[in-house]
Amino acid sequence: MAPRITVVEDEEALSILLRYNLEAEGYAVDTIARGDEADLRLKEQVPDLLLLDWMLPGLSGVELCRRLRARPETERLPIIMLTARGEESERVRGLSTGADDYVVKPFSTPELMARVRAMLRRVKPERISSQLVAGDIDLDRETHRVRRAGRELKLGPTEFKLLEFLMQSPGRVFSREQLLDGVWGRDIYVDERTVDVHVGRLRKAVNRGRQRDPIRTVRGAGYALDETFTAAAPRASSVRPEAV
Ligand code: CA
Repeated sequence: MAPRITVVEDEEALSILLRYNLEAEGYAVDTIARGDEADLRLKEQVPDLLLLDWMLPGLSGVELCRRLRARPETERLPIIMLTARGEESERVRGLSTGADDYVVKPFSTPELMARVRAMLRRVKPERISSQLVAGDIDLDRETHRVRRAGRELKLGPTEFKLLEFLMQSPGRVFSREQLLDGVWGRDIYVDERTVDVHVGRLRKAVNRGRQRDPIRTVRGAGYALDETFTAAAPRASSVRPEAV
């Protein structure tokens, strides 16, 4: 069963983005826009992890967090707080209310996904999905194996990371700079053309010259995992390209 994540966020666009990305990672997602409503719903059903906005109508995220910690059923529920810039000085207070972690908006989605994974791995190591699926491609993070239509592909370490990065956010266009940050890391100096070279190698390995290309080149913008490719996947029901 997929880990269940509840997102309490009143900013609709952000809530949709989070749902889209979390579902693409294979989680079951509930979204709630009000603090008081979340308080009620979390009495009925406890998820595996909670993403909780700081400022909410009805009941603040801070107060909700306190209440959750006071109830035995949610005492140990993993909570990641989402705080706006400027509220950062409040972060100590946030953690002292019982949140396990926090991220500051605007945050990078891959980074948040990594935190979610890390936290679930800590609390429910058996339930974290190590599989990413797009179309007929599946990638296993644990074993570092990639298969296309069941046949194993040989990818270099950079190509693997690049594919993993793109598969985490299907449809989203990443600039070369964002790909450098996300795949190579900020500390290493690499020319932006390096990205093109590795995308070329990745394509070659994945397509073998004749299969459908899952990577979309967006002129002047960058690269994306083609969401129509993903939509053709068996997992299509959990991915909603129209949501972003
Ligand atoms: Ca808010």
